[in-house]
Amino acid sequence: MFGIDVPEAWIKPIVIAIVLAILWVLEGLAPMYVGRRRRLGHDVSNLALGIVNAAVVALIFATLIVGVTAWAADRGFGLMNLVDWPAWVEWVVVLLLFDLWMYTWHVINHKVPLFWRFHAVHHSDADLDASSAVRFHTVEIVLSTIVRLAVLPLLGMTAGQLAVYETILLPCILFHHSNIKLPAGLDRVLRMVIITPRMHWVHHSDWQPETDSNFGTTISWWDRLWRTFRLREDPTTITLGLKEWGERETFNLWGMVSQPFRRGRATGESYSSDRSSRSDEDDSAS
Ligand SMILES: [Zn+2]
Ligand SMILES: [Zn+2]
Repeated sequence: MFGIDVPEAWIKPIVIAIVLAILWVLEGLAPMYVGRRRRLGHDVSNLALGIVNAAVVALIFATLIVGVTAWAADRGFGLMNLVDWPAWVEWVVVLLLFDLWMYTWHVINHKVPLFWRFHAVHHSDADLDASSAVRFHTVEIVLSTIVRLAVLPLLGMTAGQLAVYETILLPCILFHHSNIKLPAGLDRVLRMVIITPRMHWVHHSDWQPETDSNFGTTISWWDRLWRTFRLREDPTTITLGLKEWGERETFNLWGMVSQPFRRGRATGESYSSDRSSRSDEDDSAS
């Protein structure tokens, strides 16, 4: 299989732990936002939610994912089973197509009110850092995994290819959420291919035109292709989070879990209507 073995299940937690530790040190040494409060409590809450989600997926869905992908392979079902390209081409194509699916699914989560209600938990973090990368409501994770059970066989993607994708994805999402002051030139070079903090932080702005931009997960090309790419000249001027959220939810596991079920604006039914002066920037500037 393309000369590489499928990552074992234990590789993902180890990759996350190593990358998180490196980013945590860098966030302390060279933060983009200075003067954050209660960093440890914030990170522990986010990581606790991430561990719950990982456990739910492992316990309920891991066997199902292996089952449906094996079923598709046995029957020659799905896009990649219809073509006969060199193995490395098939790997590159299927990983790119799945990343395009991730972009599409993210857009759907912003456009469908019921899905936004749960995705808003990710956006309500007003103190963004690497730990925010795993801050997703469990219902959002369950929904996305159920939809994957259809997407994977349609693509003809194997469980091994999904494991490789996720092993590449995890360091990328930890990195683009991290609170690291990256040199502008380095960020610009990196974002020719991958999503960088400067790109993804715009997505976490409380101003809707920015919230509805930069939907990419790993590769930055989809946002350029579908014209959802957006930057802010000075990322430290971005107001992070959803304006209607208070601190209790930001730092509290129960607050995150119960957020979608509470009434009012805080359920995420509407974005901030704050249209105060903001500057847009295309990718020609640094
Ligand atoms: Zn989003
Ligand atoms: Zn994010």
